[in-house]
Amino acid sequence: MTLEDVRMRGFRRRRDAPEARQLLLERIEPLASEEISLWEASGRVLAQDVTSPRDVPYFDRAAMDGYAVRGEETFGASNYSPITFRLVGEALPGRAFSRALLPGETVRIMTGAPLPPGADAVVRAEWAMEQGTLVHVLEAVPPGKYVSRRGEDVAAGTLLFSRGRKLRPQDVALLAAVNLSHVRVIRRPRVALIITGDELLPLGSPLNDYRIIDCNSVMLDALIRRDGGIPSHMELVADQREAIRRHLEEASRSADIILISGGSSVGREDYAPLLVAEMGELLVHGVAMRPSSPTGLGWIAGRPVILLPGNPVSCLCAYDYFAGPAIRRLGGLSTDWPYLQVTLPLAAKIASELGRLDYVRVRLRENMVEPIAASGASILSTTTQADGFVLVPPDCEGYSAGQKVSVYLYDQYVSAPYR
Ligand code: AMP
Ligand code: MG
Repeated sequence: MTLEDVRMRGFRRRRDAPEARQLLLERIEPLASEEISLWEASGRVLAQDVTSPRDVPYFDRAAMDGYAVRGEETFGASNYSPITFRLVGEALPGRAFSRALLPGETVRIMTGAPLPPGADAVVRAEWAMEQGTLVHVLEAVPPGKYVSRRGEDVAAGTLLFSRGRKLRPQDVALLAAVNLSHVRVIRRPRVALIITGDELLPLGSPLNDYRIIDCNSVMLDALIRRDGGIPSHMELVADQREAIRRHLEEASRSADIILISGGSSVGREDYAPLLVAEMGELLVHGVAMRPSSPTGLGWIAGRPVILLPGNPVSCLCAYDYFAGPAIRRLGGLSTDWPYLQVTLPLAAKIASELGRLDYVRVRLRENMVEPIAASGASILSTTTQADGFVLVPPDCEGYSAGQKVSVYLYDQYVSAPYR
C-alpha cells in the first residue's frame, strides 16, 4: 500500500470516530482457547459452555443439626405430647450411619451428613430431648423437612456457564463442587507496547534538562491488565525510523495486538503511520474526535496495530475508545465500555462541533455534572480530578445546562462522587 506523506501538512480528512472503531472491531475475532486449572481460572473467559457432569449434593443430606427420622412417624408430636424414638447411632458429614433406619428409630445427624436410607426428614436439635438411648421428639416434620435433596443445588446435565462468561471467584467454587478441575478458556491477548519519543526517560530517571518522564507506559500497562491482556514491554524507542521498524517487526511476531504510543501524528518525526502503511495496511489515520485526533489504526501480519497519540490524555482516551475494546474482543470479552453509567443533569453547557466525537472529562457535584474546563488536551491532572466523562457523539452539537447526560464513571461504584 502506498500512502501520501501527510507529515507537516496536517490531516486533510479525519475519519468518523464510531465508523473507525467499527472498521477495527469487525475484523477482530477472539483468540484460540487453552485448558487451565481452576486455580488460574478466576477472571478468565470461558471458551465453551460448561454443563454439570454430576448432581450437587450427590446424596440427600441434613440441612440442620438434629435427628433423622421418617417424617410420618412424627405426626402429632408437640411440646405436650412428645413421640419417642430409639437412638441407634449418628451420621456425620463424610461419615454415614451404617444401615437403613427401621421403624421407630432415629440417629443423631449433623448438617451436611448423608441421610440414612429409610429416613426422609430431620427434627431440629432444639425440638428434641435426648434421654439415654431415647429421643423425645417435640415437633412434627413432614417428609423432606430440613433435608437438602440430591441435585437440589445443581442437577447433572444443567448448563452452569455459557461461553464468554468471565469467571468469578464463586464460579470457580461451583466448578470445583461438580469436580471439574480444569476449564477451557480463551487465551489472554499478548499486547506489545512500543513507546516512542526522543524526549522520554524511563520512570525513576534523574531529570535535569528538557526531557520528560514516560507516563504512558504505566498507564497503558494498567489499562491492558484491566482488559485482560498481557502487556509486554520493550524499552523506550527513539523517534528513528529504523528503530521503530525493528520493534514493529519483532512485535508482529510475538504479540496478538500492537500499541504504539507517540509519533502518530503529522510531525516530521512521526514515522509510525508511514511504517504501518509500508509493512502492512494503514486503515485509518486521523479521527474526528477530541482529544485523540492523531489516532491511527492498521494491520501488520494479521495483527491489529493501534497508533495512540503520545499526549497522555489523548492516549488514555484513544486507548479506551479503540484499543480497549479490541483487546477485550481478542480475549473473548465484551467491547462495551467497562465503566458504569449514571444519568444526571449538567451544571454547565458542553459545546461540540458537528461531526466530531468529544470526550469531556467531568466531575460530579451535588448530583450535577460539571464539565472540567480544559484548554489543552495535555493537562493530565484533569483526568485524575474527573469522576468520569461524557461522550458527545458526532451528530450532536453539545448539551445545554440542565440537560440530563450519561456519565461513564472511572470507578466501578457510585459512592465517592456524591460528596
Ligand atoms: P507525540 O504524539 O509523539 O507527538 O507527543 C505529543 C506530546 O505528548 C508531546 O508533548 C510529548 O512529549 C508527549 N508524550 C509523548 N509520549 C509521552 C509519554 N510516553 N509520556 C508522557 N508524555 C508523552
Ligand atoms: Mg513524539
